[in-house]
Amino acid sequence: MRVIVRTRLGAEENARASLECGSLLPLFSRELARVSAFRRYAVSRQQAGLSESGSKLPHSKPARLLPLLWIFTLTTFARAASPNVVLITIDTVRADRVGCYGYRQARTPTLDALAREGVLFQTVVASIPLTLPSHCSIMTGTYPTVHGVRDNLGYTLGDSPPTLATILKQHGYSTAAFVGADVLDPQRGLNRGFDTYSCPLRRKMGPNNPLVFNLVELQRRAEEVIADALGWLSTQPNLAARPFLIWIHLYDPHMPYDPPPRFRALLRDPYDGEIAYADYALGKAFGFLKQHNLYDPSLIIMASDHGESFGEHGEYAHGYFIYDTTLLVPLIIKPPLGSGIAPRRIDVPVRTIDIAPTVLQFLDIAPPPSMQGVGLLSLLRGKTAGSPTGVTYCETYYPNEFGWSALRALRSGQFKYIDAPKPELYDLEADPQENRNLYQTKQAVARELKAKFETLLASITPKAPPQRSGLSPSEAAALASLGYVATSGPTAVGKPGHPLPDPKDELPTYKTLSSATQMAAEGKCDRALPLLNRLAQEQPGLYMGQLTRAKCELASGKYDAAESALDAAIRINPGALDAVFYKGICLFQESRFKEALPSLQLVAKALPNEPYAHFYLGSIYEREGSAAQALAEYQKCASIDPNFEVAVYKVGYLLAKNGKFTEAIVEFKKVAEMDPGNASAHFNLALAYTKTGNEAAARPEFETACKLDATKCLPRDQR
Ligand SMILES: [Zn+2]
Repeated sequence: MRVIVRTRLGAEENARASLECGSLLPLFSRELARVSAFRRYAVSRQQAGLSESGSKLPHSKPARLLPLLWIFTLTTFARAASPNVVLITIDTVRADRVGCYGYRQARTPTLDALAREGVLFQTVVASIPLTLPSHCSIMTGTYPTVHGVRDNLGYTLGDSPPTLATILKQHGYSTAAFVGADVLDPQRGLNRGFDTYSCPLRRKMGPNNPLVFNLVELQRRAEEVIADALGWLSTQPNLAARPFLIWIHLYDPHMPYDPPPRFRALLRDPYDGEIAYADYALGKAFGFLKQHNLYDPSLIIMASDHGESFGEHGEYAHGYFIYDTTLLVPLIIKPPLGSGIAPRRIDVPVRTIDIAPTVLQFLDIAPPPSMQGVGLLSLLRGKTAGSPTGVTYCETYYPNEFGWSALRALRSGQFKYIDAPKPELYDLEADPQENRNLYQTKQAVARELKAKFETLLASITPKAPPQRSGLSPSEAAALASLGYVATSGPTAVGKPGHPLPDPKDELPTYKTLSSATQMAAEGKCDRALPLLNRLAQEQPGLYMGQLTRAKCELASGKYDAAESALDAAIRINPGALDAVFYKGICLFQESRFKEALPSLQLVAKALPNEPYAHFYLGSIYEREGSAAQALAEYQKCASIDPNFEVAVYKVGYLLAKNGKFTEAIVEFKKVAEMDPGNASAHFNLALAYTKTGNEAAARPEFETACKLDATKCLPRDQR
């Protein structure tokens, strides 16, 4: 039994239906998010039908009088024969850790079989080694400069450019996505064009540690994602008549490397175990497709968003540098049956931005002008001459989080030029590990590539590049639990003559910060704090150092220390709102409510979509007896995040206290649906029903509350 929201309603008060709420902190129960493993963003079938009928190309009009209609009919016929598209992205897979790419220890029979039946690309370059921006590049066929999502945090894919999903939906496809991690939350914009978008539930803050998020609930295992996807496929009534695009994203190989026991036992390296497990789960999906005669006729694409570094160049994980360890990914394309494309391996380098235009080529749909990738169909058919895919732009803005320079690169033929405060040049043929920087010794080549880089960059940079939006501290905290050190601060920009520090020089600081963040995410602030205290002494002006230290002190209940670290962070970077946000929380935890108010009000005003700011404001107003203001803040919180269970509960509670029982019933029903084990929700629902005279509805709710929590059992005469 789980009692999520602790309320205590005495028997007499029950009879009077006078609702009373318990203490605040238990409201942040870690259990809260275990209501369901995922949330699904689906539009109703009617809605999907509406937009389908509103699509530019009529789906089923027969050829009649006009030649124009005859053309439409041809298009319609072609679309009716369109193959289903199955796009698989397995996160964080280095190409050289997959069996069909020559890795002997691998246990990847599903991918190996897919490669035998399809086409394997040997050298595939991602545009950016970060999950959200890289998936935006895959889906839009554009570089990050164009889709505008430069980092995991603070960016949302806007209404343009078109994505594979929006285009295929316009052409009559059913579209569904099943993603494995919160970093691809629908609020970040990749849900555009999908009828169904299923993603793990974002968890709430823990009871004693509002800053550290539970890893488990920000991601879900591959088998869960696959089961969700197959559940969707099983319930589609019209699979034979209407083609579908399904995107399945498996997050398992991403840090932390924690494969299920069977796969941990199978392989010495847990990262390999995670890939093996994802491969196993994918095998189940392919088994289903084969069983339902959907495998052969479908276009199946498997890729990854970025690789992973294991100490090469001093980097662990991904995102900080743009060496090949984190940029080279697998890409396997299994064409639909009857395409005439023979299985083969292709050496010509290609890019993940080429995936979307390739799908469109298969479907005979002209790619939109925004797409910078090119269709690979002629390469798939064995023609290798004149492919423009060998020139690639790559970038990472992740070092900017720390106030250091972004890194950008151009790959062209055998060379790679990295534009950094200390530039780099590598001969990828002679030195694929990128260990020998030739920038000084091959100056002519370096000059040529730098010029090419600048020309390319100018051509792919829109006149008004998208800006980073207001950032949410709770999103930053959620990402920290996935291993990213992130701030809601403004993007750092160098000044003429004073470039930002080169990330290469700042690597030791970065490593300390990421280890400490990782420890904090695992609830080990006792181990993280000595590292952070030393860092604060060595680099007192480092904002992220002070902020991370403050969060750890706060999580450990050391409010004085947290407050002084937060003050230091605010002095360093007065524009960064996450320090202000945590200052508000810190003062709240110390019951200094009046002092907490201005900080939280500032955050709520600057970041109107930060649900926690409104929640804390509601809590303060409620404690101070300002019920109307409290209700308004809780309502704002619940409207931003309808899954914010405690906020929804509080809305119901305050409405009921105000005698608005019919409205309260709606809110308590939502809570009971979100969390059927919430005894208080059932109990208050019963009380509200009683007040509206609906005894028949009240009775089963009382019974449920009583079963869940014996203290909620009414005396016999009141049942
Ligand atoms: Zn990723």
